[in-house]
Amino acid sequence: MLDLTIGALLQRACRLYPGKTAVCFQEQTQSFEAFGQDVCRYRRAMRDKGIRPGDRVAVLSRNHPGVLKAMFACALDGIVVVPINFRLAAREMAFVLKDSGSALLWVDEFFVPIAQEAAHLAELAPHQLESLDAPLALNAQAEDGLDHTPLIKSDDLFGIFYTSGTTGNPKGVMLTHGNMMAGVLNHTMGYGLGPADVCLHVMPLYHTMEASLAFCQFFVGGNNVIVQNFDAAGFWPMVDRHRITHVTAVFTMLIGMLENPPAASGSSGTSLHTISLGGQAVPAEVLAKAVEQLGEDRLIQVYGLTEAAPLLTYLPREDVRVADTQRHKLQSVGKDFFLTETRIVDDEGKAVPQGELGEIIARGPNVMRGYWQRPDETANTLRDGWLHTGDIGRYDEERYLYVIDRKKDLIISGGENISPREVEEVIFRHPKIRECSVFGIPDAQWGEAVGVALSTYEPMTEDELISFCSAELARYKLPRRVWFLDALPRDPVGKIQKRVLRSQLSDSMKNT
Ligand code: ATP
Repeated sequence: MLDLTIGALLQRACRLYPGKTAVCFQEQTQSFEAFGQDVCRYRRAMRDKGIRPGDRVAVLSRNHPGVLKAMFACALDGIVVVPINFRLAAREMAFVLKDSGSALLWVDEFFVPIAQEAAHLAELAPHQLESLDAPLALNAQAEDGLDHTPLIKSDDLFGIFYTSGTTGNPKGVMLTHGNMMAGVLNHTMGYGLGPADVCLHVMPLYHTMEASLAFCQFFVGGNNVIVQNFDAAGFWPMVDRHRITHVTAVFTMLIGMLENPPAASGSSGTSLHTISLGGQAVPAEVLAKAVEQLGEDRLIQVYGLTEAAPLLTYLPREDVRVADTQRHKLQSVGKDFFLTETRIVDDEGKAVPQGELGEIIARGPNVMRGYWQRPDETANTLRDGWLHTGDIGRYDEERYLYVIDRKKDLIISGGENISPREVEEVIFRHPKIRECSVFGIPDAQWGEAVGVALSTYEPMTEDELISFCSAELARYKLPRRVWFLDALPRDPVGKIQKRVLRSQLSDSMKNT
C-alpha cells in the first residue's frame, strides 16, 4: 500500500510515469524521472550541509520547480519544510526563520538581497543561506537515490506554513504528511483530476492551496506548468499553448480573465475545464458575470484555510449550473470535501439550528496538528478534535454552506453586528466598482462605523455611492467614510490586506 507521505508520492510517480512530463517552466519541460533525479541532488546538498531529519529548512522563492524539488527532498528525509511568503519584509522573514528555528534557507536569485538581510537579522551563518539552483550542479550518489529513504510516517511533520497574518502575527501551522495527503485526496477527487490534466500554477507555491494541487499531479501523473506572474493579457494564449486544463484563481485573477476574454487575444481557451475559485469571497455580481462569460461548466468554488491543508468545502460545477438558476447558491461554498466534516456552532460549541449563523468548525485527517510552539493558541483553535476556523457561516435548507465573514472582521456599531461582506455585495452591484473592501472604523458615537475603500472603473463621488447603497441598506450599515484608491493592497494570493489598508488609512481615520 502507498504510504500516506509526500515522499512516497514522488517515488510512486517516478516508478509509474518516468517518461511523462512532470513540470514545465519557462517553456522547458522535465520528465518525472529527471525531476526525481534533481530531488536527489537537493537531498545530497542538504546532507552535505549536515541537515538532519526533524530540522527545519526554509524556502524563499518565486514560483519555480526548485520549490517543489526542495519540498520533496525535505519530505523524503523527514526534514520539515518552511515555505516563506515572498511579499514579507526582511524583518518579517527573519521572524519566520527564527520562530521556526530554520537551519537552512534556500533562496532563488531574485530574492538574494532580502534573504541576506533576513538571514542576518535571524543570525544565520553565511553557509545557512543557499541558492535554490546550487544543487543542480551536484552529482547525487547512490545513497541519495529515491529508494533510499528513512522510514517516514504519515504522522510526521511535513511542513510549517506561516499564515499571512492578515488577522495578527504570523503563526506556524504544522501540517503532517497525512494532513497533506488528505488534502491531495480531497483535491484530486473534488476536481476529478487525471493523467491528462495540465495544471497552471500562477498562485504562489508557498501557499498550501497551490502546493497541494501540484502534489495532486504527482499522484495522477499530470503536468504542472509553473509561471511566476499572472499576465492578464497573456493568460488565454498561455492556456492554448500548453493545453491547460486547470487553474486556481483568486478574485483579482478572475477580474483579469474577464477583462481580457479569449477572443481579445485570438485564443480559444477551450482546454481549460476547471477554474477553482477560493481564498476569499467572490461577490455574487462578479460570479454571475464569470458564469456568463466563461461558462457554467468551468467554475468550482472552494473554501478552506491553511490549518486544513487547506480545503474544507466546495461547490462543484454541477451545482454552479444549478446556481445559475438559483442565483443565491452562487454565493455558497458548497458542501464538505470527501475526507472532511464541517459543522456550525454557537459560542458554547452547540450546533446551531439550520439557517442560523455560527462559527464554522471542521474535523478530518486534513486538520493541522497545531501551531508551532504556541500551545495556548493551539488549544484555543483545536477543541475536542474540531478546528475552530474563526469564520462565521450558515447552512441553507440543503446544507450548502455560506461563509459570511471572519468573526474578527464583523463591525459592531451601536451594539448592532454589521457584516462587511453584506455591504460589499451591495456596493459591487454598482457597475463602476472594480474593487471594494469594507471594514470598521472608530466612531465616537457608535463605537464603530462602516468604512469602505474602493477602486473604480470610472470616476465616482461619495454621494453617488451612498445614495446607491441607501436603496438597499439600513441607515446604520451605510458607509460613513469612503476612500477612493488606485488599487487595494493585496497579498500574493490576491487577498485584500485589511490590516495594511487600515494602517495606510489610519491617519485620516483619526479625523473621522
Ligand atoms: P490569516 O489566517 O493570518 O488571516 P491567511 O488569510 O493567509 O492568514 P488563509 O488560510 O490563506 O489565511 O485564509 C483562510 C481564510 O480565507 C478563511 O478562514 C476564510 O476567512 C477565507 N476564505 C477562504 N476561502 C474562502 C471562500 N471561498 N469564501 C470566503 N472566504 C474564504
